[in-house]
Amino acid sequence: MLTSLATDSSKILIIDDDITSILLLKNILKGQGEVFFATSGEDGLSRVQSNLPDLILLDADMPSMNGFDVCAVLKADARSAQVPVIFVTSYSDIESETRALQLGAVDFITKPFSPPVVKARVHNHLLLKQHIDALHVRATVDGLTGIANRRAFDETLDMEWRRAARRQESLALLLLDVDYFKRFNDQYGHPAGDACLRAVAQVLASVAQRPGDLAARYGGEEFAILMPNTSREAAMDIAESLCDKVKALAIPHCQSDVASHVTVSIGVYSLTAPCTDHSIRFTKCTSVKQRFACEEGADILVKAADQGLYLAKSSGRNRAMFGMIGNDN
Ligand code: GH3
Ligand code: MG
Ligand code: MG
Repeated sequence: MLTSLATDSSKILIIDDDITSILLLKNILKGQGEVFFATSGEDGLSRVQSNLPDLILLDADMPSMNGFDVCAVLKADARSAQVPVIFVTSYSDIESETRALQLGAVDFITKPFSPPVVKARVHNHLLLKQHIDALHVRATVDGLTGIANRRAFDETLDMEWRRAARRQESLALLLLDVDYFKRFNDQYGHPAGDACLRAVAQVLASVAQRPGDLAARYGGEEFAILMPNTSREAAMDIAESLCDKVKALAIPHCQSDVASHVTVSIGVYSLTAPCTDHSIRFTKCTSVKQRFACEEGADILVKAADQGLYLAKSSGRNRAMFGMIGNDN
């Protein structure tokens, strides 16, 4: 249901080469959010990159780069594609309106415009954007811990896998499981178990700090960290420091067989030097170079890290182990 708008948090970008038009719109939109402006298509695009707005009011007729071209660039970039664009233009022909809407604009306002109509349309589109953003958070963030959920992890893994293969870079995965967590719940109760998972998630988030790193709740008391462009050695270092940081939380666990406080086991894997031959199966790969291209795709990285986790559990828990798979190492 469309109700009230959390106005002060909305960012509106006006892209128009006519400063009179910008000032008029700014005045009309007072109280609807923070209003920014750019006087050319190029400037508008760079402002979108540096500070992603919630709504763009776009003039169609501008010298050098026109509004249609700007809209096409915005819609082609995954980061800006979801930002609603309203054309505000002196063009009133059906072709221009059709072209704008087909390019992905949500609305088309013709100059001279009526201030109350512009205000109402902007209000409605901002409200819709807020609902979409809220749904996106619900779909991708784990409710208990506040870090990425399994769906976000799967989508990011797929994206990073393809990116790493394209760029010929490595991709590392850590799979982490809390040791004797069933006993922890049994001893201290489920709410204490939840608090423990939240604390462990915060440690993960503090470690996954580089752009592209993703800390996620993989399921239950299992977590994952995906780290692009990270070697086997670097991934192992991070995993070992993670074990130490969880220990440093010093959450008592009197039922654990390995320590008096909560510990974790971590499986680690890093694929390096991808190639582009898509015809081979992972287990038949003769070199690590071929592995990004194997038929199993990104699943092989999860399998390999999971194998490391199994090794870490079976060799005593409270440690990080590198996975081995197929004819590896
Ligand atoms: P291991 O050392 O081999 O990993 O043993 P474990 O007891 O940690 O593993 P097991 O898979 O037997 O138990 C996992 C427990 O995690 C059982 C389940 O109730 C608990 N768990 C899963 N999700 C949640 C959650 O959201 N909150 C709480 N409090 N507990 C959870
Ligand atoms: Mg488990
Ligand atoms: Mg466990």
